[in-house]
Amino acid sequence: MTVLDAEPEVGRGTSYANGGQLSYSYVAPFAGPGVIGKVPGWLLDPDGPMRFRPRMDPGQWSWLLGFLRACNAATSERTTRRLLRLAYLSRDLTREVAARREFAFDFAPAGKLVLLPDAAAVEGARRQVALQAEWGSEQHVLGRDECLALEPALAGIAHRVAGGVHTVSEDAGDCRLFCEGIAATLASSNHAVDFRLGTRVTQVIRAEGRVRGVQTSGGVIEADAVVVALGTGARALLRPLGLRLPVYPLKGYSLTLPVTRDDAAPRISVTDSAAKVVYARLGDRLRVAGMADLVGHSRDFDEKRLSTLVRQARAAFPGAADWTELHPWTGLRPVTPTGLPLLGRFPGTDGLFLNLGQGGLGFTLAMGSAAVVAAAIEGRPAPIPLDGFGL
Ligand SMILES: Cc1cc2nc3c(=O)[nH]c(=O)nc-3n(C[C@H](O)[C@H](O)[C@H](O)COP(=O)(O)OP(=O)(O)OC[C@H]3O[C@@H](n4cnc5c(N)ncnc54)[C@H](O)[C@@H]3O)c2cc1C
Repeated sequence: MTVLDAEPEVGRGTSYANGGQLSYSYVAPFAGPGVIGKVPGWLLDPDGPMRFRPRMDPGQWSWLLGFLRACNAATSERTTRRLLRLAYLSRDLTREVAARREFAFDFAPAGKLVLLPDAAAVEGARRQVALQAEWGSEQHVLGRDECLALEPALAGIAHRVAGGVHTVSEDAGDCRLFCEGIAATLASSNHAVDFRLGTRVTQVIRAEGRVRGVQTSGGVIEADAVVVALGTGARALLRPLGLRLPVYPLKGYSLTLPVTRDDAAPRISVTDSAAKVVYARLGDRLRVAGMADLVGHSRDFDEKRLSTLVRQARAAFPGAADWTELHPWTGLRPVTPTGLPLLGRFPGTDGLFLNLGQGGLGFTLAMGSAAVVAAAIEGRPAPIPLDGFGL
């Protein structure tokens, strides 16, 4: 088996410095019934969680149309149920990896608290928690005081918290360390995995309806099975095969701060649902992530967006970290309009498989997605029902 990546090291794409939350029970898609009404407010607010810059790019417009079509209760519910199955498979497999302790990735069974700003949000959360309970999620709606008792570091923002949803069974970890650990484990195993890093794939080679290999910056590599797991890079590679993948980049920002006062930084993973900012404790660092900008393929920093994120995080946990050491980063979430990733066989070409489009949940869904695709390659039954995950 050969692993190809354009970057000189693994985990240098969107997996490099994401939010660090293994958020198995919070998989409801961004495309939800109430979202269309909220989008204009978010876009008009200079500090809002979303940005949209229209581009002369049919990919952006078709993605937007698909997204708007998915913004209804029935689709959102169906997607949530499908994603929960994948997420719970992922949870079992990720915990197996963590338990083997072959490498460290700052894994912590930290639990997660989603902060809700007002009574309406608490009511909405109650409905979602009741719905997800039918599908196996164990979550509890808490009042403000209970949130504070659970995570005393929230004292600074208690005034804008009406309640929260607590999920004990959520984890946190460093996705880059996870990628590096998996790669090192594979490289040293007897599975004969050859890592060719710094190698760009330029074309999928097909003949008579079968994949034959790939053309790369380092020459042709023959293969009888090819898995395309290129995040936002997949669309360009697969376009010559006559298909426009419904995957578009949604840019986000993160900060990674050294924790300077243990009791002032959250231990539990926190999601501030009003600001749409997430916090995860990664060992002695605090990871902060947010922003959802539909602005094309550039990973450039927009200084205003970055300073908004810094201001929001600093207001939430002022004493937690050294705010001069931000380690800012941007990444492109590979998002599909519905929020469902594309997993399994590529139609019309035997031996070609997809594993992409996990959007804002790629770390969470990684192990489950890999298990699904491995079963498809080997012709085994899928470990979970796969309706909705195809093209
Ligand atoms: C701000 C932010 C916060 C996030 N927070 C979380 C979170 O808390 N929890 C969570 O689960 N997820 C989170 N995510 C989402 C998660 O990071 C992504 O879903 C995940 O990293 C995508 O992984 P991937 O392997 O598909 O893509 P990538 O990690 O981008 O990997 C794709 C790889 O393909 C390579 N590549 C591309 N094109 C080619 C080519 N032609 N030839 C060779 N190589 C190529 C790239 O170099 C790259 O290494 C977040 C994302 C962002 C941006």
